[in-house]
Amino acid sequence: MADPLAWIPEQLELLESLERRRSIHIRATQQGPSVDWKERELLNFSSNDYLNLAADPRLEAAACEAIQREGWGSGASPLITGRGQNQASLEVALAQFEATEAALTFASGFAANAGVIDALADRGDVILSDEKNHASIIDGTRLSKATVRVYPHRDLQYLENLLKQCSTFRRRLIVTDTLFSMDGDIAPLPELADLAEAYDAMLMVDEAHATGVFGENGRGLCEQFDVEDRVSIRVGTFSKALGGHGGFVVGSEPLIHWLVNRCRPYIFSTAPPAANAGAMLAALKIVHDEPQRRTDLLAKAKWLRGKLREIGWSLGDSESQIIPVIVGTENLAMTLSAQLHEMGMMVPGIRPPSVPDGECLLRISLSCGHTQQHLDTLVEALTELRLG
Ligand code: PMP
Repeated sequence: MADPLAWIPEQLELLESLERRRSIHIRATQQGPSVDWKERELLNFSSNDYLNLAADPRLEAAACEAIQREGWGSGASPLITGRGQNQASLEVALAQFEATEAALTFASGFAANAGVIDALADRGDVILSDEKNHASIIDGTRLSKATVRVYPHRDLQYLENLLKQCSTFRRRLIVTDTLFSMDGDIAPLPELADLAEAYDAMLMVDEAHATGVFGENGRGLCEQFDVEDRVSIRVGTFSKALGGHGGFVVGSEPLIHWLVNRCRPYIFSTAPPAANAGAMLAALKIVHDEPQRRTDLLAKAKWLRGKLREIGWSLGDSESQIIPVIVGTENLAMTLSAQLHEMGMMVPGIRPPSVPDGECLLRISLSCGHTQQHLDTLVEALTELRLG
């Protein structure tokens, strides 16, 4: 009998011939500003562990304690018996940290985004989504039976025109990343809140890369722009600045109750392990107690952006710890990434489908664990590559 999966190797070969085939690797050491990679120590500018918490001993200790109290696996979905004391405590602490009525935790940020959009918008509704939103938001719009309209990146005029055309839909949902994951630029949140109010739309934001980094208390860009009360649905992740795993949604009590009843990845997926909840409780405390981590990170990012722009690299509109060096072609992005690798630095080249054709880039992501010497090494290398 012919192999019914014979088409897959052919397709993989096609990807190979286009130099688009992806592979997975093993990281040999813990997280941190440097990694062991294929038996070489490299400076790591590729991690989303922005506050250098992923290998913090306090998170490890909290995870171990949680395991001792509750065991490893949760055994069931949260609505059955999977929601243990640690997860419940984390949701209370998260609502307190985010200054909202309630919070709900998910197995991943991906599941949170995809599930929440599907739960909030149905047939007869319309979703208005920024073209550079994360894949999990895009997948949420695909899951939902609502009509979807994509607006050009941060284009408020275009969005307003769309909203004018959408008055006959039952409900409108505007959805955007607050800090865009590849370009490091920021959504115009006050103006989006104005539009949501003017056109009677729900506003949902994804703070995945901003939680722990922006805002006086580290709550993200809604806090920074003072629009928290005007954004009805806020999604975040534990998997970046908080150094752990999983996603969350914060908002009003009714919103969270609705999600408990209608959000499929919450209802039909096993609850995250207690160990992660324990570690994330510790991470929230560190974000609260150690604001210098985020101020230090943002100061380093500002310094690095200034230096790289001085040398003549194009960084787009980055205003954050995510610094894209925009080079255009896939070939150039991958060549520069390989050259930096040779020079002892891990800076991934980003190409389609993560970015549009012709907008390939090197994605530098900074951690507060990077020292001035680490940054100087990167600037020296990028100066040499710019001149060469
Ligand atoms: N939103 C954004 C903007 C992201 O960049 C990511 C992950 N890269 C996610 C959501 C998904 O989060 P998680 O990794 O926790 O699934």
